[in-house]
Amino acid sequence: MGRVTTGASDAAVELDNVTKTFGAVRALVGVTVRFEPGRASIVFGPNGSGKSTLLAIVGTLARPTSGTVRHGALGHDRAAVRRTLGWVGHESLCYPDLTGRENIELVARLHGLEPATAFARAKERFGLDAFAERPVRTYSRGQRQRIALARALVHSPRLLLLDEPTTGLDRLSTERLIALIVEEIQSLATVVVVTHDPAFAEQLGGDRIEMERGRIAHVTRAPHSAA
Ligand code: ADP
Ligand code: MG
Repeated sequence: MGRVTTGASDAAVELDNVTKTFGAVRALVGVTVRFEPGRASIVFGPNGSGKSTLLAIVGTLARPTSGTVRHGALGHDRAAVRRTLGWVGHESLCYPDLTGRENIELVARLHGLEPATAFARAKERFGLDAFAERPVRTYSRGQRQRIALARALVHSPRLLLLDEPTTGLDRLSTERLIALIVEEIQSLATVVVVTHDPAFAEQLGGDRIEMERGRIAHVTRAPHSAA
């Protein structure tokens, strides 16, 4: 494509002609795309169009059937990429019998952070109140989502992948989430968000990627984008 690779884009995630099949199902077909640091990409598309599969491949949680994925400066092996990864998928990765606070402290410890400080920060950022002291299994959908998001952001990930993150969130929590994603973008995280929420997408801005039957049907670059 004749692009000169600069220092900053060394951290870009690049997919080249990626195909992912599950038996006879072609979840992704010949996907070539690049996700840059300091930008958000919003992925749209109908159910089954390959959005979650795309995120899983970007996050090294699935391997392509063919094609290549490069994570550049984010790391050259899966373990390295996963250390820099913040992930919210369809299932919350929280332990149901631990409290929200314990879940966040556990992840903080795994990333070598001071647990109490990490929780205090998450509490402030996500407006976590008394519910954080109850086991996650007792949570409403929105409370669980807030803990999942807090958990994913605890280590200031360089690669942030969010699959329908506003599911269950009220307006205040959605606004908070937008502000936090913008903060991560400003500190040069690479952000990819799957959403069906047009208001959320609109407010977040960023490049729009439309998927259709496993292919990227259309890309619209954000008008204010610096690239
Ligand atoms: P989306 O997130 O856009 O709804 P997905 O990426 O989850 O779509 O799925 C794309 C296609 O791949 C769908 O047809 C889905 O049923 C199929 N698929 C995804 N994961 C698996 C799997 N683990 N096994 C079999 N088929 C799968
Ligand atoms: Mg999905």
